[in-house]
Amino acid sequence: MFTDLVGDRAAEWDRTGRIPLDTLRGLGAKGLLCAQVPAAHGGLAFSSRRNGELTAHVGALCSSLRSVMTSQGMAAWTLRRLAGAGQQAALVPRLTGGELAAVAFSEAGAGSDLSALRTRITRDGDEVVVDGAKVWTTNAAYADLLVVFGRTEDGAGAVVVPATALGVRIERITDPLGCRAAGHADIRLDGVRLPADALLDGVDRTPALLVTTALSYGRMSVAWGCTGILRGCLTAAARHANAREQFGVRLAEHQLVARHLAELLIAEQGASRACEHASELWDEGSPDMVTAAVLAKHVAATGAARGAARAVQVLASAGSRDGHTVARAHRDAKLMEIIEGSSEICELMLARHALATAG
Ligand code: FAD
Repeated sequence: MFTDLVGDRAAEWDRTGRIPLDTLRGLGAKGLLCAQVPAAHGGLAFSSRRNGELTAHVGALCSSLRSVMTSQGMAAWTLRRLAGAGQQAALVPRLTGGELAAVAFSEAGAGSDLSALRTRITRDGDEVVVDGAKVWTTNAAYADLLVVFGRTEDGAGAVVVPATALGVRIERITDPLGCRAAGHADIRLDGVRLPADALLDGVDRTPALLVTTALSYGRMSVAWGCTGILRGCLTAAARHANAREQFGVRLAEHQLVARHLAELLIAEQGASRACEHASELWDEGSPDMVTAAVLAKHVAATGAARGAARAVQVLASAGSRDGHTVARAHRDAKLMEIIEGSSEICELMLARHALATAG
């Protein structure tokens, strides 16, 4: 259904920086933006593997739409992990019923280092008050609900803020490098008063643990999305290399061009295997899935960034127009090396894992 729905609109969405809201709400109401949510909460109860393949399919078509899926899925996962039973019953079905959600950790002074978060969530009688400023929140420009991470008196927490609450100001980022229709926005929260049960009542934890919980889902989703980017780029590059002739032979017969295709296939297969492995661990509930998700995200994001650049090289002028699949992929994939733990942060985490397991 995504193939028909997206059709040739991805380039237009990218150029205008908008996916029509009714398109997003329609997908949301079918549970397709967060397909791992259990049936009890109105979801499709997909396994991580099945949701991953869906995410890769969308990633090959439109990384902006896939980014919206990542945010919606991460919001649903955060609620399922950090909210009490009553809060889950009240909130999760809203995300499978057509409402849209974004997850906000990052701040001007807290990018890679989320221990520097300054947003405050303060209890005040039967209310909580939220003060802070978030940056670069994907899907926030479309969102009905914002899952906002911040400091509490006794640690860290997450609060669910209606986008229309008094004191919330959402400012769309108009000129992102890529994923231009993913609804990135900065958010100001000035004395936002909410009922106390807006604070997710999973016990307070350290910022690091809270963030790891939410980011693990995001990493899986980005990893599968980047695998989709690689699949889309490989198809486009192979078709072009088969069809176009220069110097009297097909491009594919020039060995230096063929090498680009081989490298794209290697990257796509490597990303696919890393994602499948991480999803298997996720579906088994293995604690090893945290590291496997970091590995999959890193392999897929770096592979997609390099692979998309190779695909543009193979298509050359044919792929150099703004809306072309490989041109979009080139811009979109670069951003995937920055989010959900940049490449450097992933490498640091993987090095720590290697040191810890070396004995
Ligand atoms: P910095 O942390 O300033 O890092 C700059 C550079 O230094 C990077 O290369 C980084 O890897 C490197 N670096 C930093 N620390 C170290 C270290 N210890 N060792 C080695 N290298 C280091 N945030 C949200 O909360 N929600 C979202 O939905 C969201 N969506 C986003 C979508 C996009 C397209 C983008 C670009 C950002 C998004 N972000 C979101 C923010 C994103 O999470 C941050 O950009 C990211 O964590 C990096 O932070 P920073 O940009 O401040 O870079």
